[in-house]
Parts: sequence; C-alpha cells; structure tokens
Amino acid sequence: MKKKISRAKAIELGLTRYTGRPCRRGHICERYTFSCTCVECARNSHSRFDKSPKGRKARRRYNTGPNGVEAHRRYAVSPKGIEAHRRYDDSPKGHETDRRYKDSPKGQEAKHRYDSSPKGLERNRDARHERLLERALDTTRDDFNPARAALLLAHAYQREEYCL
Ligand SMILES: [Zn+2]
Repeated sequence: MKKKISRAKAIELGLTRYTGRPCRRGHICERYTFSCTCVECARNSHSRFDKSPKGRKARRRYNTGPNGVEAHRRYAVSPKGIEAHRRYDDSPKGHETDRRYKDSPKGQEAKHRYDSSPKGLERNRDARHERLLERALDTTRDDFNPARAALLLAHAYQREEYCL
C-alpha cells in the first residue's frame, strides 16, 4: 500500500493527488489536491458526462474547433497517429468509410478535382493505356487482332522509353 499523504503535505510537495478519507460514495482512493474530488468519482462523472447529449455536443464542439483540429493534426502526423490511421484504413470499417466518402458529393468533388489535375490526367491516361493494352494482348478474346496488339505494344515500349 502506498504511503498516505495529507492534502496539506501534497500542496507542500506540489503533488496533484493526496490520500483523503473514503468519499461519500465509499471509494477508497486518492483525491485531487486542487478540488478535493475523489479520483474515482471524477472518472465516473466524466464518463457519465461524455455519454450525455451535453457531453457529446461539447466533444463535437471541441473536435471541430481550432484546438481540436490542431490536436488531431498533431496526432495524425505522430508515429502513433500514422499507425492508428493505417490500421483503420485497412479495417473493414475503414473500407466502408472510404466507400461512403467516395460516394458522397464531397468525395465525388475531390475525385473530379484530382482527375482534372495534371497529376490525375497523367495517371488516368496511363491507366487507360494499360487497360487498352491488356485487352489487346488478351488472346482469348473473340476480337483478338495480332496486328493491333503488336502496334499497341510497340507504342507502349516507346512511351516507356520516353519515361526513362
Ligand atoms: Zn468517490
């Protein structure tokens, strides 16, 4: 068992917690030096507040406010945050979120912006060429045309050279 520390002693030592009498709810635990609140009671009232409509609203206000946005940005670029985001993106829930975003007006708008950007145009062109080539080289297709396949392949090689 830890050594008992009175509130006066805690203040003297600059500690945030002290050992008080059991609280009126019967918790035998530490209390906060600044408020005399039982740590266990504080935790309970916090979780009750967090689950209440008022608490939810407060959290939303914080999350969308400057402080919350800044905190999230800092977290997102930290090693822990990067790892957590990666884990979420790979999870079924993350895939679902991704799909919902892509179907939303905002996601469509972002895709449109990307597709018409120089980077997006280039990427789409490459993807289109690749699809075209793949189809042309597919000998199992009814409309397989060796001459066309050869031509497209030659073009592809030429493009590769340009890239090098
Ligand atoms: Zn308590």
